[in-house]
Amino acid sequence: MPQFAIEVPPVVALPIVTNSALFPVRRVYCIGRNYAAHAIEMGHDPDREPPFFFQKNPSNLTSSGTFPYPPQSEDVHHEVEVAVMLKSGGTDIAVGDALDHVFGYALSLDMTRRDLQGVQKKMGRPWEIGKAFEHSAPTGPIHPASEIGHPDKGRIALTVNDEIRQEGDMNQMIWKVPEIIAYLSEYFELAAGDVILSGTPAGVGPVERGDTMIAEAEGLGSMTVSVA
Ligand code: MN
Repeated sequence: MPQFAIEVPPVVALPIVTNSALFPVRRVYCIGRNYAAHAIEMGHDPDREPPFFFQKNPSNLTSSGTFPYPPQSEDVHHEVEVAVMLKSGGTDIAVGDALDHVFGYALSLDMTRRDLQGVQKKMGRPWEIGKAFEHSAPTGPIHPASEIGHPDKGRIALTVNDEIRQEGDMNQMIWKVPEIIAYLSEYFELAAGDVILSGTPAGVGPVERGDTMIAEAEGLGSMTVSVA
């Protein structure tokens, strides 16, 4: 074992529904504007332009069921998404082989400091300050593909205090999961432990302290997250 000069940071690990073992997180990639209706609500053309990505930090993924309202923002939005967990990776993965690398799927929330992101967009600057903050991706337990297969259609929705805010169908993704994996692997070396957030349907909006968010997607159950 090597010696480390400082305390080793903890491995970020997520629970798996049918397994007491945990899934260790290596990297987090997020695709932007991957549902046409959401691209339109954000003021963009939903035509199939090349996909684009930003990243969150592994430690931004939390499974505590609590989302602490972050500092420096007055407009924090919910984005319900399906997270894809990889068990292997590589470069230049063919679309037809991409699903062989998937370990499983989970519900995730791409929480966004929309006001800060808006300033960064306007100035042509990176989005991290709006996207990659502490606790910014509450994530549910992972459903292994060996048990549920590869969901590519079915309802995905988010309620806030029992009001439906976001609703769509996973079949509305502009770039499908195998295409996202193949595309990313042209630019990055993907590997076991990587997590990909696959985009959000229309209906994003703000949350307040005290709100209760419930995310659901067909085959992935539901996840309740309190805004603290
Ligand atoms: Mn998103």
